Amino acid sequence: MRRTIHQKKESKFLKVICPKCKNEQIIFNKASTKVKCLVCGNILAENTGGKSIIKAKIVKVLG
Ligand SMILES: [Zn+2]
Repeated sequence: MRRTIHQKKESKFLKVICPKCKNEQIIFNKASTKVKCLVCGNILAENTGGKSIIKAKIVKVLG
């Protein structure tokens, strides 16, 4: 089953796990640029047409 993360219009910080190296990282859900994993450089989130697309696994929503 596929779960969709509903993104509200609020800005939030997300705790994600890099699918490549399992590094935990806090990212901003309204990032306007690409967010890379600090360990392996894998792209965790990117912005396409004004929308942030989270490519990592979200483990927790903060705030
Ligand atoms: Zn990584």
